[in-house]
Amino acid sequence: MTEPAVASSDATNIATRIERQGNDYVINGTKWWISGAGDPRCKIFILMGKTDPEAPRHQQQSMILVPADTAGVDIKRPLPVFGYDDAPHGHCEIVFENVRVPASNILLGEGRGFEIAQGRLGPGRIHHCMRAIGVAERALELMCKRLNSRVAFGRRISEQSIWRERVAEARIQIDTARLLTLKAAYMMDTVGNKIAKAEIAMIKVLAPNVAQQVLDWAIQAYGAAGVSDETPLATMWAHNRTLRIADGPDEVHRNAVAKLELAKHMSLPGEDLELPVTRS
Ligand SMILES: Cc1cc2nc3c(=O)[nH]c(=O)nc-3n(C[C@H](O)[C@H](O)[C@H](O)COP(=O)(O)OP(=O)(O)OC[C@H]3O[C@@H](n4cnc5c(N)ncnc54)[C@H](O)[C@@H]3O)c2cc1C
Repeated sequence: MTEPAVASSDATNIATRIERQGNDYVINGTKWWISGAGDPRCKIFILMGKTDPEAPRHQQQSMILVPADTAGVDIKRPLPVFGYDDAPHGHCEIVFENVRVPASNILLGEGRGFEIAQGRLGPGRIHHCMRAIGVAERALELMCKRLNSRVAFGRRISEQSIWRERVAEARIQIDTARLLTLKAAYMMDTVGNKIAKAEIAMIKVLAPNVAQQVLDWAIQAYGAAGVSDETPLATMWAHNRTLRIADGPDEVHRNAVAKLELAKHMSLPGEDLELPVTRS
């Protein structure tokens, strides 16, 4: 989906063209941050692009299958994440120049890209959250082990009240995120992704932020070792940080939650505003 030239957190901006020519579609555009594209096992891309720029906003985009070895597909480079290249998986920039694929490669039909994205991204997001919670658990475990084993100024660091506070807060935040993830998963299973959209958006904000905070404390607990590769913490921090951007930045998900919340309390024209009852 993502393209260097446009703000891709708003998928209506995606500009890559997919044009019908006879029995084929011809694709032109540049994508980047395409995870997995560097892996030699990656043989096919699902590409989102515009089939009809004149159609209503959410019906302009389509998804199409593009075999990686099609003429005109040029994987330019992997983009590093805080210096990590994530090889061989990679997050690549790919140029598509007059890439021709059979018309039957279109998924569902023209103009249905958003529909596919909506259905597919919810489950993908909760998956990220589950892994973020695992990362936070690991960071807390490492942090506690270090605090219990290191002595400074005559006592174990774990005996300092600031660290007790952080350990407790980490446990509270992780369990909060875990329970909200479970709620989102339960709703996806029982009432479907559409109705669970607020819970999916909430957990997509909460879980990576919780993991980020716990990782930050864990790194602090390890002192200089925390920012080196002596522990997995620095790598975990770098990967987790991307989750606050990838699959929709925090702000976009917060915006979705706020819209749904505000809509619950929207009064219709002529309807009295329900004001809180106050006493003087
Ligand atoms: C490690 C990694 C892997 C990725 N893998 C993939 C992949 O496999 N496939 C793929 O298609 N993409 C992938 N992405 C790209 C990712 O999905 C996009 O970076 C993301 O959607 C944001 O798009 P953008 O980078 O164009 O940022 P922009 O859309 O330019 O947004 C920049 C910033 O603007 C702010 N912003 C945007 N909208 C709002 C708003 N409504 N309110 C307030 N602030 C706002 C946010 O702070 C946001 O971070 C990956 C990214 C990373 C870092």
